[in-house]
Amino acid sequence: MNRFSRLLNENALELRRDVPRTLQLNLTAKCNQTCVHCHVNAGPARREAMSRETLERILAWLDSSSLPLETADLTGGAPELHPHFRWLVEQLKARGLHVMDRCNLSVLFEPNQEGLGEFLAAHEVEVVASLPCYGPENVNAQRGDGVFDLSIRALHHLNALGYGREKNLLLNLVYNPLGAFLPPAQDALEAAYKQRLRDDFAIEFNYLYCLANLPIARFGAQLRREGEHDSYLSLLEHSFNHATVGGLMCRTTFNVGWNGELYDCDFNGMLHLQRPDAPFIWDVGPDGLNEQPILIGNHCLGCTAGAGSSCGGALS
Ligand code: SF4
Ligand code: SF4
Repeated sequence: MNRFSRLLNENALELRRDVPRTLQLNLTAKCNQTCVHCHVNAGPARREAMSRETLERILAWLDSSSLPLETADLTGGAPELHPHFRWLVEQLKARGLHVMDRCNLSVLFEPNQEGLGEFLAAHEVEVVASLPCYGPENVNAQRGDGVFDLSIRALHHLNALGYGREKNLLLNLVYNPLGAFLPPAQDALEAAYKQRLRDDFAIEFNYLYCLANLPIARFGAQLRREGEHDSYLSLLEHSFNHATVGGLMCRTTFNVGWNGELYDCDFNGMLHLQRPDAPFIWDVGPDGLNEQPILIGNHCLGCTAGAGSSCGGALS
């Protein structure tokens, strides 16, 4: 039994799926950055991407499904680098879904991305943007030289389009720690971010999401290289917070990989923990896998430590 299962047992808890609300599509592993903590191992050399055929099959499944899905969460890699990104956003909006773009900000200045900000604003796409600090040193250390300046330029552009200022143009930022420690309290850090970004750069945004780093992929390898893997897992285990379990994102999310394969979350996708009861999204029937157990492992300790962690930030 893994350490996470043992903790659930000790607390008389079970992790089962609830009614699905979010369809998270991992469009591509390609990214213009190579961040040290990336749980997808994304980078410029990666080629994996959803084919147009797979996207059309997912849309056909959506059209035939009566499940109460509300949000399409587009992630990667850098989802905007997918050749059919803008077409897909239009298709999802036409189906009445709220669309979120997990954006690294610097992608706005990549070749062939002209007009990206304007496109996102015109379609009222929520932008969820990584910015692990309000100063340059930490951002450049984690995300690459020059990324902080590009991020500030992108945030100015998004603000000028109305993002972070107008009701329908949500701009949320994401913090994750630089090393093997848990994020600080989300409310206090959000207040600090708001003040510093406003005072130093005249930037506005809506909410800050604090995420913990899960010990897998590139961050897991870094922990192993630096001899911190076991101590980080122990930190996560000893910080277990049972109050986070009910709100874990895997309960209400369908995460879909490049070939349409179905996972309970993006992390499980990276670990190839494909669901045996519905290996592909189009295998999900009218019950939406409600009440079915979620596939778990030691990596899950990262979601339940401290205030908890999800794609939407802290959980308690
Ligand atoms: S963390 Fe995000 S921006 Fe950084 S390499 Fe991974 S996908 Fe790209
Ligand atoms: S890693 Fe995935 S499956 Fe595990 S608790 Fe977190 S969201 Fe749920």
